[in-house]
Formats: sequence, C-alpha cells, structure tokens
Amino acid sequence: MPSRPEVEKQLEKLGIHSRLDLVLHLPLRYEDETQLTALKDARTGDAVVVEAEVVEADVKYRPRRTLVVKLTDGERDLWVRFMNFYPSQVKQMQAGKRLRLFGEVRPGFFGDEMVHPKYRVVGKDTPLPTSLTPVYPTTAGLSQNELRERIGGALDKFALEDTLEPELLAQLRLGRFRESVLFLHRPPPKVDRASLEERTHPAWRRLKFDELLAQQLAMRIAYRERRSKAATKLPAKHTLTNALVKSLPFALTRAQKKASATIAKDLALPHPMRRLLQGDVGSGKTLVAALAAVQAVENAAQVAFMAPTEILAEQHYLKLKHWLEPLGIRVAWVAGSLKARAKKQALEAIAAGETQLAIGTHALFQDDVKFAKLGLAIVDEQHRFGVAQRLALAAKGVEPHQLMMSATPIPRTLSMSYFADLDVSVIDEMPPGRTPIVTKLVDESRRDEVLARVRDACAEGDQAYWVCPLIEESEVLQLKTAIETYETLQATFPDLAVGLVHGRLKTEEKAQVMEDFKARRIQLLVATTVIEVGVDVPNATLMVIEHAERMGLAQLHQLRGRVGRGPGKSLAILLYHRPLSEAATQRLKIIYENDDGFEIARQDLLLRGPGEFLGSRQSGAPLLRFADLERDTDLLESARDVADELIATGDAAVSRHLERWLGTKRFFLKA
Ligand code: ADP
Ligand code: MG
Repeated sequence: MPSRPEVEKQLEKLGIHSRLDLVLHLPLRYEDETQLTALKDARTGDAVVVEAEVVEADVKYRPRRTLVVKLTDGERDLWVRFMNFYPSQVKQMQAGKRLRLFGEVRPGFFGDEMVHPKYRVVGKDTPLPTSLTPVYPTTAGLSQNELRERIGGALDKFALEDTLEPELLAQLRLGRFRESVLFLHRPPPKVDRASLEERTHPAWRRLKFDELLAQQLAMRIAYRERRSKAATKLPAKHTLTNALVKSLPFALTRAQKKASATIAKDLALPHPMRRLLQGDVGSGKTLVAALAAVQAVENAAQVAFMAPTEILAEQHYLKLKHWLEPLGIRVAWVAGSLKARAKKQALEAIAAGETQLAIGTHALFQDDVKFAKLGLAIVDEQHRFGVAQRLALAAKGVEPHQLMMSATPIPRTLSMSYFADLDVSVIDEMPPGRTPIVTKLVDESRRDEVLARVRDACAEGDQAYWVCPLIEESEVLQLKTAIETYETLQATFPDLAVGLVHGRLKTEEKAQVMEDFKARRIQLLVATTVIEVGVDVPNATLMVIEHAERMGLAQLHQLRGRVGRGPGKSLAILLYHRPLSEAATQRLKIIYENDDGFEIARQDLLLRGPGEFLGSRQSGAPLLRFADLERDTDLLESARDVADELIATGDAAVSRHLERWLGTKRFFLKA
C-alpha cells in the first residue's frame, strides 16, 4: 500500500484537497457485490460474485509466468488465472482457503475460468456488502480500495449538515444533503443503477442543484457588489445620438433599438455598467456600441473601444470615424504597430482629453495609455481578452462603464451561468434585406469546380474571399501556405485582380489591401483567418474556406458571415480533406445544416463542453463538475431564482452554502 504522502499527492492530482473534496468525489459507476451467484449459474457474461475453496495453486509458464488457481464450490470447478501477481498472493492461495471473487466467469480450456478477478480471502460467514460498491474516478497508482477507505472515513467523520432549510428543500422537491451524498456513495442494491450512472437520480439532482446554487450565489454577489460601486452618470441627451441615427442610410432594427435603449438607461445610472451585448454575426452590434459611445461623448466623457486584432480594430476605426466625425467627434487609432511619433501624439491627445473615442487593440490596455476622463470601455469579442487585461482597463478610470460584445452568440444556459455576473442584451434580429447564405461542403478533389465558381462570380462583378487553412502548429507554415495559395490563384486567374492579406503584414499594408478590396480594385482576396471577424464588404458574395475540417464552429460561422452582407445571393464553399475525424464530421454537418448562430453555439457547447467554449473567461475558475448545462436547465433556472431570493432576504444560508461549496475558491474573478 502506498505511503501517506504518496497517497496525498495522488489525491491532489484528483483535485482532492480536503475532507469535503473526498465526500464530493462521487462514483462513476457501481459494482453489485451484494449477492452470491452459484458457479453453475455464473456464466452469464455479467460480472458476478462467487465463492469457492482453493484446491491447488501453481505458478506456470505458458508461455508467460501465470498464477493458476483451481477452486471448487463443491458442485463445479473454477480456474482462475493471474498474469501479474505478488509472491504474497501465491502464499495466500493455500488449499482449503475460501475466496470471494468478483468478475466474469467464462468457459475456458480446462473448464469455467476467471481472469484477473477482484478477490479476497473470506471465512464461511463473512457478510456480503449491503450496498453497491462504488467505482471512483482515480489516477495511476491509487487503488479503488484506498480511495474507498479514504472516502468512507470522511463520510463517517463528517456531519454533512444541510446548508439549506428543510422548507426550501421541500418546495424544490430536493432531498437532504446528507442523505443524498450517502446514497450516492453507498446505494442500496435494489436501486436503478442507470439513474445513478446517468446522474438523473434525485440524489444527483440535489448535488447538482447545490453546485449551481453556489455558482449563482457567487456570481450574483459579484453583480451586487459592482452595483454598489460608484461610476460617472452618463445620461442620454439625445443630441448626438439622434444626429447619428438621422445620418444613417437605414433604420435601426427593433432589436437594435431595444438593446440601445437598455444601454442608454444603464449608462445613466451612478454605478458601473457591465453589459454583454450578444447577437449573431452581422446583426449590427457595432452600431449599438457606437450609440453608447456617442452618449458618453454627450456627457464629455471619453470612450475606449477595443478589438482583439488590428484588422478588426481598424475596421471599427474606419467605420466609426465615418459615422462619428461628421458629428464633430474626434476619433483616434492606437495600435501596437504605430510609429513612435504618431503614437506619442495619439497618447497625448488621449491624455489631454482631446480624443473622445480611442479605438485600438490591447495596446489600449498598456500602462502608457492614460485617459483624461474615461467614461466607457467597449470591448469587442470579449472572449478573446483575458480577465487580467479587462481589469487593467478598469483601473484606468474611476470604474468606467463597460460594454462587452461577443462575436458569436453564447448559448443561453452559458450566459445564465458563467455570465450571471453581467447583464445581458441579445440582438435577436438581422437587418432587413439579407439573403441567406448557401453553404456547400465540397471534397478537396473537386477543387476545379470551385475555381470555376470563383471565376464566374468575379466575371459577374462580384467579389470573393479565399481563406487559407489554419495551421495551428506553425505560424510560419501558415504564412507560407497563404503566399503559395496566393501565387497559385494568381497564376490560375491571370485576368483577375488577386490580393493577399495576412497577420504579418504591416498595419498600413493591411489597411491598403482592405481598402482596395472595398473599392473593388481587388476581386479575389486570399486571406488567412485574420478576416475571421469584423470585415464588412457587402459586394463580396463568395467565400471559399480551405481545410474547413480544421476549423472550429464559431470560426466557421464567423468566416461564413463575411458574405451575405449585401443584396446579392451568397455562397460559402467549405473545402475539406479526407479522412475526416469524427469531430470534424460533426462540425461540418452542424455548419451545413444550421445558419442560426445561436443554434450553432448550442451544438458547439454540446460537442466541446463549457471549458473549451469559454476559453479565457474560464481560466483559473472552477467549472461545473456535476451539473450539465444542457440537461439540467431546470435546475439552473431554479438555482438562479433561489440565489436571488436568498441574497435579497439576507439569508444565513448564503454564507453557509458558499462556505461549503467554494471555501476560498470563487467561481469567477470579478471583472
Ligand atoms: P456584427 O453584429 O457582426 O458586429 P456589424 O455591426 O458589423 O455586425 O454589422 C453588419 C453590417 O450591417 C454593417 O455593414 C452595418 O453597417 C450594417 N447594419 C447595422 N445595422 C443595420 C440596420 N439596422 N440596417 C441595415 N444595415 C445595418
Ligand atoms: Mg462585429
């Protein structure tokens, strides 16, 4: 048996640091050792418990060293073979010793046999266990027996008092904590094992509820704490915002108006807004953000607008400049690649308060950027920014208001759980006049047909994107591939104006290419995935994505959303290479069958789980271990309601429950 410190280390590996962690280390499945089966009835293919006496034991070489034990229960013989064994085991197997064995009995060469069964030496009347035997998730070198002993010890020592009042539990139709935990570790033999292993049993539901409640409490407390902080009020004046709306060649959608009105109210409050603006690709989030920015400017406050890539930041810059400069608003561009002098000037103008809206990449987070009066920070593609970066920005002013935008929709259950510390607005409507994008999955071997499509589209005056494969292992290789693709396409289409844009180009070069594409001086734009987000050229109607099988769903949906932005019919061709992995096949099927970003996101969450989906937001914060956001939506909803209720009434259960479930941990850092 491993020494104590070694066991501790292995327990740590399993995330078990305390007695409570032991109690909450729940079984994966169970074995039924509560009933003996006679050897004559045992050949069912199921694992069973049998008892028999040793007749003889021998170490044989056939050809591997094997311990062969012959046993009998008086009616039948049983042969047991062990390939790995200790000398002490050989000693145990003396004639007349009674063994209780657990495993599968199969017809073998000499008769019935068991290979490597679990066993122990028993007396004639050693009682059988009265509950199912739990099988726990474990790690190399830590035996089930050791784990069971530890967990059993913790269960016996721990009072397992309830954190919630009986009335509340009755109302929620949930069992008590103690009973639920004991039930899961030591279920009676007659229980429906599937309901335990599939985690639908009421005992499981109680634990899932507790976990979700802890998460909701932590998030809602963070939410309330923030609302007790002071921020500058930026009430709507309807001067510049009205002017902006009037200047647009289109009307706001109902959904944009609604989101915008909600944000306008938030900004007027004396505590910092933290609102997540969600909407599908192309739903018009930028304009809603622009209206928020303009409202801040109406109040003589400055605005920082951040995007994760230079290309995207630049697109925002051009668009916002186009919208806002006619209103007399001074817009500036801050990027890491700016020349020293230009940067110095930009920073001085920001520090002096002359610049009203500063747009840029994470360069805006840096220490040398000082705002005279930062009132609002807008963060596009918030999921790409780490928490630390967002905190750095928050430190730049007296708690600026924050508007976060997500590039792709976030499934409802995720925003209800991991984003419960934020307010959420959803734009659930597309601007009118969009034509749906037709998506085709095309095997790489039919590349010629794709090339013909590109030629035809460009001949008709449309424009096309050709997106190069993502090569995660090597940026250099990715660049090389992009350049090669560009050269090949140039050679294939000598009459077409082909352009190339990738992440390694200088800012001005990138800007030039994008401008040429917008102005139709480029017909076919070869691009790496840098164009994934934000690029907006309505005349582009064809998108070819190479090695689509390598890309994630959100990325594919984003890329596809670059077309279908004008009145023309749009087509996205997803080229794939065989062989396709199971996951890749799933992704391609989902993207082919769905055009609604929310549905794609929901399926993505199912495929990848919340950890992957959340990315940086989640780093360092505990994920849900027991609850499943897709299957336990009802529990999530009641946990949210109960959390709000308990907090509102100042119930003592709040601290009891958080203490139990989080201890010193928090579900998520405050942002
Ligand atoms: P996303 O939500 O993906 O960030 P954008 O803000 O880039 O979408 O908007 C996509 C395009 O739709 C832009 O060209 C934008 O100017 C345009 N747009 C936004 N709102 C409307 C509207 N109400 N009517 C028509 N076009 C709109
Ligand atoms: Mg956008």
